[in-house]
Amino acid sequence: MNYRKTRAEINTAALRSNTNWLRRQIGPASLLAVVKADAYGHGVGPVCATIADSIDGFAVGFTDEAIALKEAHPNCRPPILILEGCQSIAELQLCGAEGFRTVVHSYEQLKALELAELDSPVDIWLKVNTGMHRLGIPLSAADECIKRLEQCRNVGQITLMSHLANADSLAVLNQVQLQQFQALKEKYPDYSYSLHNSAAVLSPQLQGDLAVTDWVRAGLLLYGVNPSSVSDIQKELTPVMSLKAPVIAVNELKKGDAVGYGSSWVATRATRIATVAIGYADGYPRQCKNGTPTFIRGQQAPLIGRVSMDMITIDVGHISDVTPGDDVELWGQHIDVREVARQADTISWHLLTATSVRVPRVVVTQN
Ligand SMILES: *Cc1c(COP(=O)(O)O)cnc(C)c1O
Repeated sequence: MNYRKTRAEINTAALRSNTNWLRRQIGPASLLAVVKADAYGHGVGPVCATIADSIDGFAVGFTDEAIALKEAHPNCRPPILILEGCQSIAELQLCGAEGFRTVVHSYEQLKALELAELDSPVDIWLKVNTGMHRLGIPLSAADECIKRLEQCRNVGQITLMSHLANADSLAVLNQVQLQQFQALKEKYPDYSYSLHNSAAVLSPQLQGDLAVTDWVRAGLLLYGVNPSSVSDIQKELTPVMSLKAPVIAVNELKKGDAVGYGSSWVATRATRIATVAIGYADGYPRQCKNGTPTFIRGQQAPLIGRVSMDMITIDVGHISDVTPGDDVELWGQHIDVREVARQADTISWHLLTATSVRVPRVVVTQN
């Protein structure tokens, strides 16, 4: 039971509809649902339960997240891939025992795999660096690493993967990474391949080349948010998370009255403001500027003044009858999380995953 009405509503119908939409976009490719960071802040429990039957695999960031998924869903059928791979032999043993798949992105991880004593072989996703320079063995080492994996008794199926640095925009590097990955596939046609993330599926530079991807690794699209700056498909999607909080006070302001810490916002006319029970400790970004939209009583109302730890203030001078208890949407169905992210100089991925543990996730089946 929560007395405070602040909550993140998680719309499972929207999640299902986004998943089906994505399926249609990717044709015969397999769909790896990325559920790291507690399913982008949506809650790995409800998310996995909703889509387990419509996807081909789950991906998490690290081993502890794979364990958490397994605990939430003991009979989880789709395989679970660990994107950062194992950092210890104990984790590799767990992969063998639990059937987790793991990425190998470095010589250290390859070596550990060769030395480990495992009960059962582990399916490996070998990550090759094609230009992002964050994780991945150099392309020049691919021949050697593939050979070593083929000879390793601990290795089951091999998939080759790489990650795109600029899939959300138009960039020369997209073509470079694609060509390098394509060359690898031509050389080793018998393996499975995975290059595309959400934005890549929508990219005019990469869209026609889903053929190089047997597995699409999608996060943000499933949660109903457009990851791409070059493709306008937001209307095809439904945001899964709606972050909502109640009004807890309504105050009349005179011209010249200042609001909040630092008195950074000053009324230029008499108006009415509402104080809303959500703040930066809930994950509402402190960086949001004056004018960031919120939604109340069917209308937009701008954020004014500084975001505090537990509260924000919004100008509701143009909306009649605002009363304590009224629901305010911070992002979701009516307020685009991308706009809030823009106002805070950050990205949607950040806001969704930063929604804090203080905010209960409430599953709803429609908006
Ligand atoms: C997080 C992640 C993804 C999913 O990214 P989206 O932009 O949310 O689709 C795909 N691949 C890797 C390696 C990741 O770390």
